[in-house]
Amino acid sequence: MNGSSDDTLTLALSKGRILEDTLPVLAAAGIEPEVDPESSRKLVFETNQPGLRLLVIRASDVPTFVSYGAADIGVAGKDVLIEHGGADLYEPLDLGIARCRLMTAGLPGAMDEASHRPLRVATKYVETTRAHFARIGRQVEIVKLYGSMELAPLVGLADVIVDLVDTGNTLRANGLEPFEVIEDISARLVVNKAAQKMKHAAIEELVELFGRGASSEAA
Ligand code: AMP
Repeated sequence: MNGSSDDTLTLALSKGRILEDTLPVLAAAGIEPEVDPESSRKLVFETNQPGLRLLVIRASDVPTFVSYGAADIGVAGKDVLIEHGGADLYEPLDLGIARCRLMTAGLPGAMDEASHRPLRVATKYVETTRAHFARIGRQVEIVKLYGSMELAPLVGLADVIVDLVDTGNTLRANGLEPFEVIEDISARLVVNKAAQKMKHAAIEELVELFGRGASSEAA
């Protein structure tokens, strides 16, 4: 399956926090969407670059769009890529944006209180959480949530959470403590493997533009 013909590239962007950080990188790379994706309800955007269009989609869907070839290339958080598995995607560039940490957190002492039984963990990162606790040899029962993970320990739904932490303000505001870093996270470029072969020159050019955009943003 392939969503765009040989002379066009489709770039999938993650909505939300990553989009906020991606738009300045695009601007620094000279790529301008036809209208501002943050204020528009459109899902597909043409750009000032002939043959480059943007999709703005839910962050956790970016690896799926790229792996099926519905987008040739995407910007996705490392958290989402680890959870997806990512083996069917190339990951040519760490954009160094939307940096945060994937952490365990909970009420003070939560890990010790549950030391004689399986730890109950609320998260949307089910696979990553399972792998982490298997690695450290701790039995867990995972409660899958889609948002507001911080609420789970406050209402007895879980002992701890696995979630992204940036400033730590959300944890603090809810009386929770960060425990352990599972992964340092940032947004990455990912490329469909077939597109990498079939549209090699266009993809290389876009990756290079992104590289320049990301380093001038970081400067
Ligand atoms: P903070 O209060 O700054 O620690 O941010 C924590 C909240 O923002 C949590 O609900 C996280 O899920 C979310 N968050 C933090 N960093 C990111 C990121 N890079 N991408 C997406 N969500 C994030």
